[in-house]
Amino acid sequence: MADSLSLKSLFSSDGALSKVFTGFKQREEQLTMAEAIEDVIESEESICIEAGTGTGKTFGYLVPALKAWHQQDKKVILSTGTKNLQDQLYYRDLPNMRKALGVSPKIALLKGRNNYLCLYRMEQSLDSGQFQSRSMADTLVKVKSWSRQTQSGDLTQCSDLADGDALWPYVTSTNDNCLGVECPDYADCYVAKARQKATSADVVVVNHHLLLADMVLKDDGFGELLPDADMVVVDEAHQLTDIAHSFYGQRLTSRQLMEVCRDTELEALTTAKDDRQLSVSVRRVEGAVNEVRLSLGEAGQKVNWQLIASPELQQKLKELEKELLALCERLERHASRSKGLDSCHRRCEESLQSLSLFNSSFDNSEQTKSYEAVRWVETYRNGFAILETPLNVSESFARSRKEHAATSWIFTSATMTQADDFSLFKQELGLEQAKELILPSPFDYEHQAILHIPRSLPDPRDRAYISTWQKEILPLVESNPGGTFVLFTSYAALNKVKELWQEQLSGKELFAQGDLPKNELIERFREAGDAVLLATSSFWEGVDVKGEALSLVIIDKLPFSAPDEPLIEAKIQAARKAGKNPFFDIQIPQAIIALKQGAGRLIRDYSDKGVLVLCDPRLIANRYGQKFLKSLPPMKRTRDKAVVLEFLQSLSLDSDNKDADNG
Ligand code: SF4
Repeated sequence: MADSLSLKSLFSSDGALSKVFTGFKQREEQLTMAEAIEDVIESEESICIEAGTGTGKTFGYLVPALKAWHQQDKKVILSTGTKNLQDQLYYRDLPNMRKALGVSPKIALLKGRNNYLCLYRMEQSLDSGQFQSRSMADTLVKVKSWSRQTQSGDLTQCSDLADGDALWPYVTSTNDNCLGVECPDYADCYVAKARQKATSADVVVVNHHLLLADMVLKDDGFGELLPDADMVVVDEAHQLTDIAHSFYGQRLTSRQLMEVCRDTELEALTTAKDDRQLSVSVRRVEGAVNEVRLSLGEAGQKVNWQLIASPELQQKLKELEKELLALCERLERHASRSKGLDSCHRRCEESLQSLSLFNSSFDNSEQTKSYEAVRWVETYRNGFAILETPLNVSESFARSRKEHAATSWIFTSATMTQADDFSLFKQELGLEQAKELILPSPFDYEHQAILHIPRSLPDPRDRAYISTWQKEILPLVESNPGGTFVLFTSYAALNKVKELWQEQLSGKELFAQGDLPKNELIERFREAGDAVLLATSSFWEGVDVKGEALSLVIIDKLPFSAPDEPLIEAKIQAARKAGKNPFFDIQIPQAIIALKQGAGRLIRDYSDKGVLVLCDPRLIANRYGQKFLKSLPPMKRTRDKAVVLEFLQSLSLDSDNKDADNG
């Protein structure tokens, strides 16, 4: 890249990007974004950029970042929300952008350690010969054979190991069980190699968990994770606050405890066979963990610590503490016999300390650190987590940023503001000084989309709400020539509509979340072209279905977080105490971001057309509805079903005409 090349010329319709990226379109918004980033790199400031769908924000930040590396040797960390986005950046966007700009920074991809094969644990599992099933043993042999050819050790590329396979924890490591530099396999360790490559790279692609892990300098046996970068770009930045809450908090999970037990057993098989009591202690801890899980009741609950603390549960937790102490003492005797046993002892001690801390709050009836953090429990099908989450991470995040080497921070996403206001995002992360930029989507929403709010639906609290709206909507779904997403705020509503539509929906394939793994489900939906997919929160964002395969998006209710979720409940209480209105200051802003994400599934390209249906009548009946509507792209609005049917009909004609042209 010639040093004198301006962003304007690079982004022009016959500029360097157009030569490499087929179909590249010059977009004013994209250039504005790149120029704003170039300015903050120069002035060593930070910026929050909301870039509407279709702005092309990836190129908007990659070009100024690579230019700054080329001209000023500035190192870059790119942090994204998901593994898929990491892969897309590392394997597709960055190599193409290097080519387009004619620059060659060293690039690296760093994923969480649970993606990489752990040689030590794989060999340990093979040696133990103890498997839950025959198929687990077979898969382990296949992973071993794959390990002979892989360069990266990235297990997501091992086709024999399916997502969610029970073998994963046996062939990957955690911060807790990794032996670090003392591991006998350290010289060949894939995690260590990926991290070494990252520390010497000019551009590193990470996810938000790793970025935060690096920022809070978690001591996990490898020291710092990432190089001292000059700038950090946080894409999908709207996800950062929630992830930060978990990073600056504490957690103790049944999985951690079970893993210590399992690792102790594996280690004992080779280095402490003489102490049969060790195995007995392990069994007793496992039993006590299971007892606690049973006492916690149903899966899927998030409950304040104080509310679940029945005398029976308190007793089970105290018993678990007692058994953990016994295991800890026994492990202490063997810690010097192997690095593995030493590590099990350390982890057992740490878990014991956390549990004692949680249990002690029963004795002194202190709720938590009064309005600073909330203690709560989450239950899963086979386990539980006990957590302490800070209510406010702004100071911690601001401090971590101050201690970080980067001088420019770029936060970007399609959904950061409420009615063009960045306040909440900035307050939550302590970014008050950051600059702001809002870039509207370049799509022509006026002509590409319609927003429909049906007439005469009851209030969502009405018992007849679901049955009424689904009846009202069904004709639209059946008339839609393309695909339909129905996004729910609860599984209960999803299941009810699924049951009804399995009977009533005609001529369309009906899919529901949980029928297949997420990626497979989306692929089947896309291929069908006119299917209906019922889904909840995990499909509200990050799903990209372009064209006719998705031309109708229906949202059942405004996505307010449940006010009895411990973190939300505690934030509401703290806001009240501070004299604020929690509904307006917390719940509405959060729901607006979620609604923007859901609505963003509809128009994904310049030629996309479609209808967004928001069933919730509170959008019209309540004054706050305006705030939601103002935050959505500028679509034509109608309450008239006939107008929607006509629009859907026109989509059908469009597609017939296209077929005729192609024919
Ligand atoms: S260093 Fe850690 S991750 Fe690497 S092989 Fe050893 S235990 Fe596994």
